[in-house]
Amino acid sequence: MNLDVNTLFMVTIYVEAILGLLLLFAWAQNMAIRAVAWWGFGHLIRAASIVLFGMYGSAPELITIDLANALLFTAFAITWTGARVFDGRPVEPVYLVTGAVLWLLVCRLPLLTDAIEMRAMIASGIITTYTWLTAYEFWRGRNEALVSRWPAIFMLFAHGALFLLRTPLAAVLPWSPTNNDIFGSVWLTVLSFEALLFTISIAFILLAMAKERTELRHRTAAMVDPLTGIPNRRAFLQEAGVIAKRHSSNPRPTAVLLVDLDHFKTINDRFGHALGDRVLEIFAATTLESVRTSDLIGRIGGEEFAAVLSDTSSERALAVAERIREAFAKAAQEVDGRPVCATVSIGVVHCDGEVLDVPELLAQADQALYCAKENGRNRVEIASLEMLLKRKDEAQAPSTTALASTASQSAA
Ligand code: GH3
Ligand code: MG
Ligand code: MG
Repeated sequence: MNLDVNTLFMVTIYVEAILGLLLLFAWAQNMAIRAVAWWGFGHLIRAASIVLFGMYGSAPELITIDLANALLFTAFAITWTGARVFDGRPVEPVYLVTGAVLWLLVCRLPLLTDAIEMRAMIASGIITTYTWLTAYEFWRGRNEALVSRWPAIFMLFAHGALFLLRTPLAAVLPWSPTNNDIFGSVWLTVLSFEALLFTISIAFILLAMAKERTELRHRTAAMVDPLTGIPNRRAFLQEAGVIAKRHSSNPRPTAVLLVDLDHFKTINDRFGHALGDRVLEIFAATTLESVRTSDLIGRIGGEEFAAVLSDTSSERALAVAERIREAFAKAAQEVDGRPVCATVSIGVVHCDGEVLDVPELLAQADQALYCAKENGRNRVEIASLEMLLKRKDEAQAPSTTALASTASQSAA
């Protein structure tokens, strides 16, 4: 394969500029992710630096080498800044220009004016530093589960490594330029080609990251209760369905809890809706502390919450419910300096091995919750056989009445 450096330069300038514009266009459509604009500018500035490199021979080296490299380093610094902005970290204006300033100082040092190898090493060092810093920023944000983070980290790491190794490799491989003819070097072809592939891949990976984050945020917004940050009714029932499916192939003792805040309407009336919201937040926070991370909790109504505790005996389920009740009563005694004294009632139902029918268990827990309210509130009740039989009787009662009334109507 014979790749002409000038053609490669032209193609790279074109591709960099198009990708830069594409990224800016993507940002204009969804300005929520500002990093995309930084990355767009990074590509455009890299395109400008290659234009300057391409003028080598027809313009002074001050422009085609010194300034071109300074621009190139700034482009990498901008991409790094984009990675910081992407994960909510601040822009570092000083480090943004450090590479370019350092380079321009190096160029002015009489000692290094003709030391091409040394200057190439410094240039590689600056590119590797920014590229690895970009990979590091993405790695730091890995708690956000974006699959496209990993190819981005890999690409940036590999690109940085290639730049770092180019000087020692150039010494080993018989491709080094003779009589300082940089543009005759096979290395320049290899690096230009790699730079082209890198710029295409990284632009698409960065776009994929931004798109993945947008989708993740939409998905989260549809599934998470914005006030308490826990799953909403839809997400709770969906996740409970997944647990039930798992349970059908491997039945495990499971408990379902239904929680309702006591006299919450009065709390709203006495202290205002905003404080009522604070109480709901406190409930979610204290409950999250009282259950395991593997337990599922959700806000299934205004002031109603539910939990599915997998691998849990009925004794443990009762203990957890008591813990939730006590922790909340303590935390909600005084809210924002007001004597709120909020409490909860909890209905518990336990399922041991049989089919896990979550809506049915919630209905049974509701029966237990009703008993807890009847028996004075601020307490935990577990669904008993008597309760279930009563529920069955009640469920049948209306149809009996209906039959009776139909019978009496037909008799009349
Ligand atoms: P009980 O002990 O019998 O459960 O009485 P209660 O007052 O808690 O029950 P009720 O169902 O009468 O009232 C529930 C109240 O919860 C009414 C509603 O205004 C309030 N509520 C529902 N969602 C929210 C919310 O998001 N924020 C606030 N502040 N209040 C809410
Ligand atoms: Mg209620
Ligand atoms: Mg209530």
